[in-house]
Formats: sequence, structure tokens, C-alpha cells
Amino acid sequence: MTTKYIFFTGGVVSSVGKGVTAAALGRLLKERGISVAVQKLDPYINVDPGTMSPYQHGEVFVLDDGAETDLDLGHYERFIDNRLNRACNITTGQVYAEVISKERRGDYLGGTIQVIPHITNEIKHRIGMVTKTTNADVVLVEVGGTVGDIESLPFLESIRQLRSDLGRKNTMYIHVTWLPYISATDEIKTKPTQHSVRELRSIGITPDMIIARSDTPVDESLREKIALFCDVNKKAVVPMVTAPILYEVPLLLEKAGVGDYVLKRLHLQQTKEPDWRIWQQLVSETSCEKPSVCVALVGKYVELHDAYLSVRESLKHAALHNGVEVNIKWIHSAEVTPENAKELLSEVDGILVPGGFGSRGVEGKITAARYARENKIPYLGLCLGMQCMAIDFARHIFNDQTADSAEFNHSTKYPVINLMLEQRNITDMGGTMRLGLYPCKLLPGSKAALAYQSEHVEERHRHRFEFNNEYRKTFEEHGMLFSGVSPDEMLVEIAELKDHPFMVGTQFHPEFLSRPNRPHPLFMSFMDAICVQAEIEPVKLII
Ligand code: GLN
Repeated sequence: MTTKYIFFTGGVVSSVGKGVTAAALGRLLKERGISVAVQKLDPYINVDPGTMSPYQHGEVFVLDDGAETDLDLGHYERFIDNRLNRACNITTGQVYAEVISKERRGDYLGGTIQVIPHITNEIKHRIGMVTKTTNADVVLVEVGGTVGDIESLPFLESIRQLRSDLGRKNTMYIHVTWLPYISATDEIKTKPTQHSVRELRSIGITPDMIIARSDTPVDESLREKIALFCDVNKKAVVPMVTAPILYEVPLLLEKAGVGDYVLKRLHLQQTKEPDWRIWQQLVSETSCEKPSVCVALVGKYVELHDAYLSVRESLKHAALHNGVEVNIKWIHSAEVTPENAKELLSEVDGILVPGGFGSRGVEGKITAARYARENKIPYLGLCLGMQCMAIDFARHIFNDQTADSAEFNHSTKYPVINLMLEQRNITDMGGTMRLGLYPCKLLPGSKAALAYQSEHVEERHRHRFEFNNEYRKTFEEHGMLFSGVSPDEMLVEIAELKDHPFMVGTQFHPEFLSRPNRPHPLFMSFMDAICVQAEIEPVKLII
């Protein structure tokens, strides 16, 4: 079957949920038995977001193959429940790096290298790579940024060319725009949408569908107006009011008839009836009254919640399946001190320390781990969070406050966390960590094995430092269990405290594999422990 492509462009403003819309449409197609893959084209010149500050970019989402990608890839994986690969996120930086290295090799035989056709050909080649590596029937391609940005022009030109390369019945353009509400006159305005469609048409792309996002309901006359002014079939003008629950978006698109419209437009055959029961249940369970628990998330980028997007979603997935509502108390790690730890943490039901890099705020994270250990509060440490748990434990058993990770203190007497051997000679920062999926062997009977109900798992990693094996024996003698190790037993992957209701740290990032309908086992166990501690009878959602 010829692969079909759906291209998403953004109009008017950014942050209107283009990624979520693409992910949700992916789900609509998957529900109809059509295999899908999603790709994000990012216009920035970084090769990947791995070296960017989370303040700039939010979280870095890691895939099985170790690609460090845009956080939208997380939305795609959570909505369509497919494992994506490196080809699914490309940046201007990658495209130029490849074209320039080909030029240096002499591959272009003396030609003058230009945006059209050399850059656009490389972009088209990389769009084609998704089809080759995933075998998807439909590839949804999201162009990052907003129409009118200088940076995204080569991407837009490439997707424009793809219509003539592949034919109209194999390509579809969906433009996601924003309808502002003017309170003074109590009306919603379509003019910015008209302008952005005009801008899109000026570069040769005519949208086949407009998804018009707004915060307030959009009436029929506005829909007609957009259809008329933007020259789009009225059925293909889809107003999308901001959904209070993220996982409602596929249901709203379905209700608006988007799935059937797209199928018809692309001449696709549906092989099964969509079954929305799980999604409907997720939405109704989310909106109903439930007992609530509070989890402190102690991180250094807490001002920007997107820096911990997958962690937040994983907590929500696990809470929902336990029949509770989770309130996250965002605590800036730089503000946590031994003096105020009680004030900040005594009321919470659980403490989560997520991943991170660099020394800023790390003492606060170690203090949070100590508070959880001493007060027997359920604790989940993710990557750096596991390392902080180990540092605190070392300070406790050696009675020496200088025990540390070599990342923060080179000369510590107790480097309980050390640079991995294979990292010692690496000088480049980009894409050089221990990245992606690695197997992990679990200790039978441990909390981790109990959570997973399995003895072998595979999880996604992103780190340079590791637990220092010299301390394994002493730690074990004092009650820490290394319940997850690499198959050759050389690397600690999971550590847990024996004499504690739930104090578990993972060197990997379980948050990247949690799905709304299938919460991650460790987040589930963390939430179970929280519910027990908070004396809430867990009501498991059966789906
Ligand atoms: N900075 C730590 C390391 O590189 C932890 C990384 C992380 O939390 N992702 O090992």
C-alpha cells in the first residue's frame, strides 16, 4: 500500500496543542486498524534537544534507540502507544550537518549547494525514512513552529513539494490555528486564522482541514465563515475547544467526524471499528470525585512544568488506576534545606525526585531523600533521584556529610556515584550519554520484581554517572537492596531500601514508558504505597 502523509502546520500562535492534535489523530487512525507513525520536524539548529536547557525546551524525551527528542514525541507515544525511533524527530541542525558533510566528501560533484533542492531533498529523504523504518500506512508529520517563521520555510517547502511527488490522494495538510476571544466585545475572531491560511497559501500550501482551537465554544456561523474565507470544505473546519482532560482530545476529534473525513480524503480502508471504551473510561474516571493524595516533586526546573512532562503524566496514569487524584506539590530543590524540610515535606504523601544534571539544587534533593528515608515516606527516585538516594544513604552509614557523586564533588572521600568507565574519555556533550533501552535483571522477591511481576525488563536510560560498585557490599550490609542490575551484574539499575515502606530509585527513566491505559509498574507501586500510607483504600480501575 502507498504510504499516506498527513502534514500538520501551526498558525497564529504556538502552544495551541498541535502535537496533541497530531497524536490524537494518530489514535483515531490506529483505532480503525490503520498503522501509524508520527514525526516532528523541529526548525531549530541544535542537532537535538539533548543539549538544550529544559527551561528552553521542556523535557527531553528518550526513545528506545537512544534518540533524545522533542517532548511531543512523548505525546505521540502515549496517545498511539507505538514505540517510535530516531527517524521520528528531525531538526534543521541534523539536516544541515548531513548536507554539509556530504558536500565536504565531494558527493555533490561541484554543484552549488542550495536550500532548494539540497536541503529540501534531505528533508524529504528523512521524511521517507519514517516509512522505511516503521512500515506505517500513514505518517503524520508535524512541522514545529508557526507559519510565518523564517526557520520553518525549508520544511514547509519540502512538504509542499511532497504533494506533487506523492499525489493529492496520498497527502493531506491540516492547519491548526487559534481563535482569540475578545472580551470587550464578547466575540471570537477568525481574522488571524484567515491571515495565517493566506500566509500558508502564499508558499503554495492549501490546507485540506483547519482545526481551529479556542478556549470558548465556537458557533456554526464562525465555522462557515472560516470555510468560506479559507476555502476549506465546511466539514473540514473543526473547532476544538480546550479540553480540560488531555486524553479527551481523541474523543472530541472522533465526535467531530475527523477520523472518517481523513479516511475518505486519503482513500483509506478501515479494517476495524474504533473502540473508545478505555478512553471514555479514562476521561470519566479523571473527572469524577476521588480521594486525593499529594506528591512532592523536588526538582530544579519546577517553574516550567513541561520540564517534567512525562513524570507528571506517569503520576497521573498511576493515580487514575488507583482511583485517586494526585496533586503535585512542585518544590524547587534549591529551596529545600535540612531546616525547612519538615515544613515543606511533612504534609505530603509521597516524594519524587526526578532526573537532572549539575550541582545546582542537588543538596535539596539529597535532603528530600533523607527526609523520605527517616520519616518513611514513599519515595521514587528517577536517575539523579536514585543517585541522591544513594548519596544520602552513604552520608548516613558513613556518618560523613561529604559523601557525594563525582559529578558534584571530584575529591570526595566517598564517591558513591561515579562517572561510568566508558564515559571517561568523552568530551562532546551531544548524544554521548548512556542512552536508550537496556535490559535489567530483577531480584526475585524485591519490591521492584513485585511491581513488574517479572524478572527481566527493559528500560530507557539517559545518564553518564552510575552507582560505584566499590560500595555495593557495604550498602547491602546496611539494608540497601540492589534489586535491578544489568545482565552482567556490573551496573546498578534499581536500588531499594529494605526497611522502608517504599524507597526505590532507578538509574533509568520509567516515565518514558508509562501509558494512560498502562501505567508504569513502578509508578503503580509507588502510588500503592502512597495510598496505604495515606490510608486510602485503592480502587483499581479495571481496563
Ligand atoms: N546527572 C546524572 C548522570 O548523568 C543523572 C542524569 C539524569 O538524571 N538523567 O548520571
